[in-house]
Amino acid sequence: KAKGDGRNTFRYYDDKLDQDNIDKFNLLQRLRQAIRQQEFSLYYQPKVALQSGHIHSVEALLRWPQSDGSMISPADFIPLAEQCGLIAELGNWVLQEACLACSRLRAQGFSTLRVAVNLSYVQFKNDNLELLVQQALLAARLPASALELELTESLLISDTDLIQQQLNSLSKLGVTFAIDDFGTGYSNLGYLRSFNATTLKIDRSFISSLCLSERDEPLVQAIINMAASLGLKTVAEGIEDEATLQKLIALGCNDGQGYYWSPAVPEPALPALLNRPPQ
Ligand code: C2E
Ligand code: MG
Ligand code: MG
Ligand code: MG
Repeated sequence: KAKGDGRNTFRYYDDKLDQDNIDKFNLLQRLRQAIRQQEFSLYYQPKVALQSGHIHSVEALLRWPQSDGSMISPADFIPLAEQCGLIAELGNWVLQEACLACSRLRAQGFSTLRVAVNLSYVQFKNDNLELLVQQALLAARLPASALELELTESLLISDTDLIQQQLNSLSKLGVTFAIDDFGTGYSNLGYLRSFNATTLKIDRSFISSLCLSERDEPLVQAIINMAASLGLKTVAEGIEDEATLQKLIALGCNDGQGYYWSPAVPEPALPALLNRPPQ
């Protein structure tokens, strides 16, 4: 469109775009400052064996507390951190802190507890990821077998040599991998052949309506069967009630996470959760 005609319409879109960019810019400035001043905390959500109710591991989830007491969701600031090159530093802090927390809890008597850390695909683009993982484990005196890395399908289908090589060497260290949000990414399942994950996490969108929608049950059953025949464990995300739990046990799902047991909590709240009789 030529600049002369429809100038008002043109400006209207311009202004809206500007406002989006200003919001994004402001958030970015605050994110930079928050990283500098270490304003983040890690919360931990239990992963439960469905049959026994035993909590065998916890997933570290990033929290950014605001001065008014609210939290900005990682779903909102992680994509921005990825776009602006901040995720490497933030992600490495998460890795170190999660390993230290797991180690502290092991020392308090939860000696077989494992910890899961979400990794961004951007962290895999750096060729020093294996070193950073080793350093985090070493600094925490944590065996590699205590660490699980959660990856999304988008990372696994971008099958570059560097990613493949890093996955292999991390796996040789003894770290395990879980495929996060399974079923929401891509229909290309080819990566399941080449990539040795141990666990498949079924996305919450399939679990939350499991008892409401007739179509979700056969879908979840199929995912669980496929995982079992590939030798993968299944974890159901977002279990919120007893009925969903019972259905998933009947379908043969191994583990679960969700508000039914607990949301993510700060580290000091974990011992009480871990000591709670199985539920
Ligand atoms: P995710 O890894 O799939 O984590 C599960 C999300 O579901 C978490 O949201 C968790 O709080 C929420 N959730 C758990 N149980 C329930 C439930 O029963 N009901 C409902 N409605 N929600 C439940 P959260 O903490 O807001 O994290 C969102 C996403 O942000 C995560 O999804 C993950 O992809 C990303 N994320 C969080 N922490 C990190 C991190 O340290 N690094 C990276 N790269 N990504 C992270
Ligand atoms: Mg996750
Ligand atoms: Mg997930
Ligand atoms: Mg998710």
